[in-house]
Amino acid sequence: MEILKSPKKYQLFINGEWKDSISNQFIEVVNPANGNVVGQVASGNMVETKEAIDAACNSFLSWSKETPKARADILMRLYSLLLENEDHFASVITNEMGKPIVQARSEVQIAAEHFRWNAEEARRIYGKTIQSSEKQKRLSIIRQSVGPVAAITPWNFPLSMVARKLAPALAAGCTVILKPAEQTPISAIEFFKLAEKAGVPKGVINLVIGNPKEIGDVLLEDKRIRKITFTGSTEVGKLLYKKAANQVKRVSMELGGHAPIIVFEDCDLESTVNQVVRSKFNNTGQTCVCPNRIYVQESIKDKFINLFKEKVQSLKMGYGIDENIDVGPVVNKSGLDKVKKHVEDALQKGATLVVGGKVSDKDHHKNGYFYEPTVLDCVNDQMLIANQETFGPVAPIFSFEIEEEVVKKANNTDYGLAAYIFTENLSRSVRVSEALEYGMVGINDTVVSQVEGAFGGIKESGIGREGGPDCLDDFLEMKLITTIIRD
Ligand code: NAP
Repeated sequence: MEILKSPKKYQLFINGEWKDSISNQFIEVVNPANGNVVGQVASGNMVETKEAIDAACNSFLSWSKETPKARADILMRLYSLLLENEDHFASVITNEMGKPIVQARSEVQIAAEHFRWNAEEARRIYGKTIQSSEKQKRLSIIRQSVGPVAAITPWNFPLSMVARKLAPALAAGCTVILKPAEQTPISAIEFFKLAEKAGVPKGVINLVIGNPKEIGDVLLEDKRIRKITFTGSTEVGKLLYKKAANQVKRVSMELGGHAPIIVFEDCDLESTVNQVVRSKFNNTGQTCVCPNRIYVQESIKDKFINLFKEKVQSLKMGYGIDENIDVGPVVNKSGLDKVKKHVEDALQKGATLVVGGKVSDKDHHKNGYFYEPTVLDCVNDQMLIANQETFGPVAPIFSFEIEEEVVKKANNTDYGLAAYIFTENLSRSVRVSEALEYGMVGINDTVVSQVEGAFGGIKESGIGREGGPDCLDDFLEMKLITTIIRD
């Protein structure tokens, strides 16, 4: 398996050219598993962002007029190229953000699937004709590209989040300026190299990396940018939403989550525990859809915890380049501090420690941000962990007695991204899934992210959907055309 040699230098990509930054400043990208510098990335500012906007606006004139088939052909080439380069991208992801290599490969496959799905959907942009109430009148609705788009992505899925923005935007005929997270820009840079090979025309996609506020402000204040698509925290999402309102820009927001998992006494216990462990510790607990509150019905709680503990103890933690690793480091020091704070707060307020509960003291973890996979019992609503995203390898277990009570508790949050229920009772599964105030509900399933499904949240978890049969809607405008026919 390839290990990145450090430190390699990376450039910005604007109007079809690789460029150093005017400031000549660099961002160091550090491997969270061992502290090694994996790359130095040119740090751009307002000037580069303006150049990128100019390029995206100029190329929009031709790209938006390109046939859907031609756009789809390019997206299909990207799909194939991503799969051909799966190992390379997986090792980049593991080295820049710490995700175990097996999970990183799966991220590359998901990214590729977004290009295939959106290529297929690109050819299905339909309009409508409507019968008018006036005899002489004809009505039709056509759908056109929104315009040049600003895309801002987080660090936790550095490749697939880029794919989820660029694939539908390109399919719908939009051009893009992408600003990936400072922590993990290399996956995006490597992707742009593929895009050149796949034949994405000059200026259609542009990559700016650097100070987020400075770049974000330029993107949001420029009237030519017609839409912002953002994935990240609810806090930053709200900031961008307010700024976008000044020009009534279109917005898509994929924001934070605080997913409840409800485990009823009639579930298949073994399968439930396996799924909850996999989902909770996937990406070291740093996913927007991973369970943050595990509600277990009182009558099976002891059995559930014993089995859960056994599985968690068998997880292998370490530098994810090793194929056998299940859990990597958290992404940085502030991520680690937040995990520590949540666990300490819960223990002070009466939670009990089942397993884990500390920063790893293993010698080979000392230069990374490793926190032991942790299970807490007797968690209650007064604890920080019950109300905020922990974004780390901590499973807090709550107990409940009856259905109505747990549904109320599960809904008692401003977040509304994903929720899960485990039960073999059909009526209960329908009742509860309909009552949960979330954009996605998994029934006996914790993998709600599927390219064919509509991914996204309600309440403060977001606006809009990614993937699914309506994936291009957020990048298209409707235009009504009315015609008077003479006799
Ligand atoms: P974040 O701090 O909100 O950052 C996300 C992106 O926004 C990064 O590129 C960041 O740049 C940029 N940014 C920060 N401040 C900005 C500003 N003032 N103006 C413009 N851009 C700004 O989130 P994160 O820590 O990277 O990601 C974790 C969060 O994302 C969690 O809350 C998670 O739940 C959420 N998430 C949601 C989904 C979903 O689909 N709903 C998926 C994945 C993650 P820098 O990196 O340079 O700071």
